Amino acid sequence: MIDHLGRRIEYLRISVTQNCNLNCLYCQPGGTHGASGCASLSAEEIETAVKALARLGIRKVRITGGEPLVRKDIFDIVRRLAAIRQIEDLSMTTNGISLASSACKLKDLGLHRVNISLDSLDTDKFAYITGGGKLERVLQGVHKALEAGLSPVRINTVVVKGLNDSEIESMMLLTKDLPVEVRFIELMPVGEFGNKGLDKVVLNSDIIASHPELIKCERTETGSPASYYRIDGYKGRIGFISPMSHKFCDCCNRIRLTCDGRIKPCLGSNGEVDITKVLRSETDKLFDYLKQIIYNKPEGHNFNKGFRSERNMSMIGG
Ligand code: SAM
Repeated sequence: MIDHLGRRIEYLRISVTQNCNLNCLYCQPGGTHGASGCASLSAEEIETAVKALARLGIRKVRITGGEPLVRKDIFDIVRRLAAIRQIEDLSMTTNGISLASSACKLKDLGLHRVNISLDSLDTDKFAYITGGGKLERVLQGVHKALEAGLSPVRINTVVVKGLNDSEIESMMLLTKDLPVEVRFIELMPVGEFGNKGLDKVVLNSDIIASHPELIKCERTETGSPASYYRIDGYKGRIGFISPMSHKFCDCCNRIRLTCDGRIKPCLGSNGEVDITKVLRSETDKLFDYLKQIIYNKPEGHNFNKGFRSERNMSMIGG
């Protein structure tokens, strides 16, 4: 549907759980801000919400978290969402820790593609950033996702000054032999680390300027905030998502559903609407309720004007 500023809203991100098997520095599901103790929506409630949103024009759904693969009924959720006729694109964002053993089943159930978060290719640094994660398991997950035919396989790297900015070239090198898309994301003021971390943001424009070997690709996906490049002779592509240096709010097409049943129409605004009561006991009103929320989606974020998120990314669904 079209919101009050004329933007076509067709993309929904759902945080299906706040729980995670990692504890990344800048995300910290075990951290503060109400991250603990909230009850997640059931698989059936998620399905009901997505069906209503699909009637309102949602065509793309991303399952995220927390870590979606720690949810015991994640396959049931994927199966239910894949069966909704209007959903043309069903994807998942995962840390990849449990992906090797589930990639084939996810694909069989109807998941189209996967984004895997990976911030370091150094075993020790990866463990440091993620609070003990095993790099090897994520790399196995990447390979299994490719083998399963999930496509495209995207690898998302949040670049943090002094932490992993020395690994930009090695991350790019992954695209030499693997048909993956490695995407660099600017650190946002979300969560405690991000809120304090404006001086740790590495601007994507600086990365692009210092890599003349990058060849710009034509934009094929409308509504995607990423701009893509390739390196001659490499199999994959390199993407840049730049919420800090390039505001893309005027073409933002997304809303979020938090694990505890709040619609968050803008990542860079603390406004959210609790839909649990309507979802659970007044389903006949759900369609109009959601319509109103989408219509009133805020104009844009204020990341560079002192905005601080009251929730960390694991609850919102990054
Ligand atoms: N557990 C899954 C994962 O690791 O991909 C999904 C949830 S995680 C919150 C989704 C993404 O949000 C990750 O790629 C993470 O790097 C990103 N993220 C978390 N906090 C962020 C921040 N402050 N700025 C930019 N990206 C952030």
